[in-house]
Amino acid sequence: MGQIHVLPAHIQNKIAAGEVVERPSSIVKEITENSLDAGATVIEVFIKNSGMESIKVVDNGRGIDYEDRSLIFERHATSKLDTAYELFEIRSLGFRGEALASIGAVAKVSLQSMSEGSTPFKMVISGGDYETDTVWHERPGTIIEIKDLFFNTPARLKYIKNLRTETGKIIDIMQRMALNNPDVSFRLVFDGKDRFKTTGSGNLKEVINILYGTQVSSNAIPVSGTSPDYTIDGFIVRPEVTRSNRNYINLSINNRHVRHFKLSQSIINAYHTLQPKDKYPLVFLNITMDPKLIDVNVHPSKIEVKLSKEAELLKLMEDTVKNGLMETQLIPEVEHKK
Ligand code: ADP
Ligand code: MG
Repeated sequence: MGQIHVLPAHIQNKIAAGEVVERPSSIVKEITENSLDAGATVIEVFIKNSGMESIKVVDNGRGIDYEDRSLIFERHATSKLDTAYELFEIRSLGFRGEALASIGAVAKVSLQSMSEGSTPFKMVISGGDYETDTVWHERPGTIIEIKDLFFNTPARLKYIKNLRTETGKIIDIMQRMALNNPDVSFRLVFDGKDRFKTTGSGNLKEVINILYGTQVSSNAIPVSGTSPDYTIDGFIVRPEVTRSNRNYINLSINNRHVRHFKLSQSIINAYHTLQPKDKYPLVFLNITMDPKLIDVNVHPSKIEVKLSKEAELLKLMEDTVKNGLMETQLIPEVEHKK
């Protein structure tokens, strides 16, 4: 008799959850990305006890069709990808259809949604099992609440030791979301206390000001650069304003936050002689490119990417920042009392 069998869906989802939902901040990232993909212009995030007790996201996006409700928490179920061809041309933030299935496997999730002209609904899933499925009052958009994270995965629960660290990571993710989407109003609330709120006016400098204050925003200089395949634009901050780590090098590609060691390095190189050795710059830059030139499917978190014309982009990045810095040397720094 054969020994091999396909694992049941709830076990498959628990395994996938290990990669997709590592910690509260990964959930915040996945859920708000879904709101952005749904075209939301207002996204409110309410966190209780650093996300371990509750993560609630309310959006005004296009909502989910009533007919689709049975697929929402199924693995590899997505509305964002139809053909394998599209996998090489990703335009949405999500596409793997894994987040909600994974989250539903390791937490208690309640989801309410309504799309235009469709019946509003509510569903609750706990550790992979559906609990109720009742019709809910009308409101366009989606409300999702994740409670008791990792209640059925004790090892993962133990791994979340320091709630302060988790809060910091949630702030980090939300700030990057806000920076990458100045035309969306984001609100972040911890235990009933507002942390920040952006207006959605589309003005990146205003977002920088709300998040980092005037010392940073008033020293931010607009830059832009183009090469045959890439366009870079955004702000670099004068070299006199420094930070002691690389976290303030904000990079996004087609408005998706990315981490790319060589790109960060090319920015640090451009600032090279203008900053002390142990100090790092602040920049807020978005790269626009044909989605065919980038592979975002390297890891489930989609933060790491592979580029096909890397050398061209690295050069453009260093040149763009250098040109911007040359201009900053001509304009006096704006002083601020600490
Ligand atoms: P993915 O984002 O990769 O498609 P998810 O598991 O994150 O996979 O979500 C599954 C599907 O549920 C999405 O493709 C989308 O159709 C729907 N969905 C999830 N969140 C929202 C939301 N806030 N608004 C509208 N649709 C949503
Ligand atoms: Mg998603």
